[in-house]
Amino acid sequence: MSAGAPVLALSGGVGGAKLALGLDKILAPGALTVVVNTGDDFEHLGLSISPDIDTLLYTLSGLADPTRGWGRRDESWNFMRALTALGGPDWFALGDADLALHVQRSRRLAQGETLEAISADFARALGVATRIVPMCNERVRTRLRGEEEGWLDFQTYFVRQRCAPVLREIVYEGAAQARPRTPLQQLAADGGAALRALVLCPSNPWLSLDPILALPGVRAALGASVAPVIAVSPIVAGDAVKGPTAKLMREFGLPVTHGSIARHWRGLVDALIVDVDEPGLRESCGDEVEIIVAPTLMKSLADREHLAEIVLQAADRICAVRAGRAAAPSSARRP
Ligand code: GDP
Repeated sequence: MSAGAPVLALSGGVGGAKLALGLDKILAPGALTVVVNTGDDFEHLGLSISPDIDTLLYTLSGLADPTRGWGRRDESWNFMRALTALGGPDWFALGDADLALHVQRSRRLAQGETLEAISADFARALGVATRIVPMCNERVRTRLRGEEEGWLDFQTYFVRQRCAPVLREIVYEGAAQARPRTPLQQLAADGGAALRALVLCPSNPWLSLDPILALPGVRAALGASVAPVIAVSPIVAGDAVKGPTAKLMREFGLPVTHGSIARHWRGLVDALIVDVDEPGLRESCGDEVEIIVAPTLMKSLADREHLAEIVLQAADRICAVRAGRAAAPSSARRP
């Protein structure tokens, strides 16, 4: 596979966007497509909000706030101040410039345009060459059953209740009826034959990537991909870098280890990149998954680019081995 061949990444928000930025920087402009989770999307103050798509848009355009980890840099907060003064809800903070994006998206959705078309236009307007594609245009909503709270909407759990509820169950409402968007349809149709790599970013497997895999045909397409599938573990130094991944794993009775991540992706990935080796990790995933130990904590842009290089090197190596294997039988048959 040539170095200029396209790369497809699946991503949630912050963790995924870090690696997507690394890939975006080292690949030729336009070579990367990121399919983004929309299970976190919600309606608030009459607006349609797509948090993970916006994280990708802001991160890849250089507009993301580097310290808060969400929203835009150099943001002003007049709207929130005025809203709060009027007794409006203040649990979900919307900066003024961020608000403009939600208003424009909501306006266009109300006119019948698709989330895919709107996201593509926003990426263009913000100077992003990478394709940022929602996993589907239909409404899919991740819902969580808290031990004491019962069923919760995703943002109620994530933002309003700061991930405090102990989770017992997760569903991706509407996923079975939704239609995966073009890059996922293409993957199902041609097995990823044109792709250099298919990347599972270090997003929360249960809350950010599984909603994408819950769409009809996506899990099977990933399992059947001829393009190497490379995942990066979101566990670093035995914990999540941010967010509820580790807490959720404990609540589901899973050890917070790369082994649990490897088992989650079993049958789907060819290689898993982890920050440290664990006793028994290689044995627990069998021969099917190559374990690659590399620095996976992305603090700087250089860290992001370095990890992206490791991902692509892994994919190229797997491709080369497969090509060698495919060529071997004919020469072996010669007397
Ligand atoms: P969200 O939708 O904003 O919660 O973001 P994601 O699901 O994309 O990312 C959350 C996951 O990213 C968490 O499990 C974190 O552990 C992981 N994460 C964040 N930063 C890093 C990093 O620098 N390296 C790795 N390996 N994982 C990270």
